[in-house]
Amino acid sequence: MDETFDFVVIGSGGGSMAAALLLRSLGKSVVILEKTDLVGGTTARSGGVMWIPNNRFLKQDGVEDSAEKANAYLDAINSDDPNLPGATPARRRSFVSEAPKLLDFLIAQGIKLQRIKYWPDYYDDAPGGLEAGRTICADLFDINELGEWKEKLRPTVIPVPATMGEVMRVGGGGLDAKLAMAAIGLRMIYMKLTKAPLVTGGQALQGRMLQASLKAGADIRVNTPVKEILIENGRAVGVVVTQDGKDKRIGGALGVLINAGGFSKSQKLRDQYLPGTKVEWSQVQPGDTGEMIEEALRIGGAVAQMDATVGSQIALPPGATDMKPMLQSDAAKPHAIVVDQSGERFMNEAGSYVDFCDGLKARDKVSPAVPSWLVVDSQYTGKYSLMNQKGEKLEAMVGFGVFKKGETLEALAAACGMDAGKLKASVERFNGFARRGKDDDFNKGGNVYQRWQGDRAHQPSPSLGTLEQGPFYAVQVYPGDVSTYGGLVTDEYARVLKADGAPIEGLYATGVSTASAMGRREPAAGGSVGPSFVWGYVAAKHAAHAGNQA
Ligand SMILES: Cc1cc2nc3c(=O)[nH]c(=O)nc-3n(C[C@H](O)[C@H](O)[C@H](O)COP(=O)(O)OP(=O)(O)OC[C@H]3O[C@@H](n4cnc5c(N)ncnc54)[C@H](O)[C@@H]3O)c2cc1C
Repeated sequence: MDETFDFVVIGSGGGSMAAALLLRSLGKSVVILEKTDLVGGTTARSGGVMWIPNNRFLKQDGVEDSAEKANAYLDAINSDDPNLPGATPARRRSFVSEAPKLLDFLIAQGIKLQRIKYWPDYYDDAPGGLEAGRTICADLFDINELGEWKEKLRPTVIPVPATMGEVMRVGGGGLDAKLAMAAIGLRMIYMKLTKAPLVTGGQALQGRMLQASLKAGADIRVNTPVKEILIENGRAVGVVVTQDGKDKRIGGALGVLINAGGFSKSQKLRDQYLPGTKVEWSQVQPGDTGEMIEEALRIGGAVAQMDATVGSQIALPPGATDMKPMLQSDAAKPHAIVVDQSGERFMNEAGSYVDFCDGLKARDKVSPAVPSWLVVDSQYTGKYSLMNQKGEKLEAMVGFGVFKKGETLEALAAACGMDAGKLKASVERFNGFARRGKDDDFNKGGNVYQRWQGDRAHQPSPSLGTLEQGPFYAVQVYPGDVSTYGGLVTDEYARVLKADGAPIEGLYATGVSTASAMGRREPAAGGSVGPSFVWGYVAAKHAAHAGNQA
């Protein structure tokens, strides 16, 4: 080896610095090897929300939760396939037991975190589901505190200094939204006066983690891609990196952790595992090309759940570049439905983004539905924005062909190439449900989470409103993603497993390099970043204690 550390981490994603902090707290040396020029991965780019059930903030706020409840919840959302290789009962239980410990550990390390007061679990009506939610995010962070590392932290896509709780409150409308906007406005004035660049979301989370990891003495290197994992006598002992144009062997005496993201940005792997989907539909950072999953496969690791993604419904207007417009709650509002290319309604428009995108892909197998059409009427455009556009801007975008418009449903169907009879029948049937306040076909608005995404002031259901006032508008909606969700099979200690179920000694994996312990569904906001942190922490504990859980 050219260099040796106790532990080597491949990629600077969510779990990387949680692992580094744990090992440094035990006096072990750690190197984090990041291939891009920026630290933090898609985690830094993201909302940075973590799903941590049974956490201390819930207790402080008097919200009842327990490991039993969280286990019941994960059991319930995985009930149609309870033994997925990545989401075995043992893995799920390990996650539930370790998640609150990870949180306590991070807080003890000085990471400032907070609970988002209200963000319902996505299946809050399932056994163990929690209406208030179990989501955690970082406090806003002044990136000047990072000194020269400030320029090396990947930015988030959230451009305002608002906590994720405030972002959610603004989306909800009404007085609470105005109060949240006022708080954000005052903060922007404060930032101008003090020149303190406060950042939020994943950038705040990973910025805080970077600051703590550097302080703790972790060695963090950018522009250092790993190209090979070294195996000796069946054990992972290090990696080969390219550093300053030269290959270098770096040893990890206690092991190697893969936290190298998924494969959203590899068209080759998409064609293999997610056929019919495109790299351009993904919102993740460009380094998410899956080569460490391929490398682990080469050395005997097994993969599972490779057709799963963390979906994110998007529009693809002409000229859309890095971040595509997200249509996350647009279809969840009243006066909106989604129909396939023939004009037929086929799913619950207010379900989680994973269910929404899986719904489009499933429908496409029987009737063309990628893309589908999100259809709204003028009651909708009078009250809400569509793809963040309202009024004149919306009309201008009709001119650019982003939105289709028709004075009648027949005219809209003609503009979109749909069957007018089918579209009218879909709308008439939905209008009947909207008047009664209950969607008998797909149960749009069937739980608190779905209604919360709707219009809370709308009656009789926050999710259901008729489509009857022209002109009507439609926009094409695609099953984009914010992550792949399948990958290496790991056990309850985050060890990478072979096809026969035996671990590759010394090799661990976390985040979306793995088959998710959440299964195929997103339990709630933070179902990706939370587990990435938790399994990074679990892997580090296992490696440090040579098999004995701390
Ligand atoms: C806009 C947006 C918002 C989102 N919001 C949330 C949210 O709030 N909560 C949530 O749970 N999920 C969210 N997601 C999804 C979530 O961000 C990702 O699923 C998650 O961050 C993946 O984390 P990770 O730890 O697996 O890897 P990543 O954070 O992606 O990090 C992997 C790192 O490994 C590096 N790498 C790859 N290959 C190599 C190599 N060969 N050598 C060295 N380094 C390598 C990559 O460059 C990258 O930096 C969001 C995603 C987006 C795009």
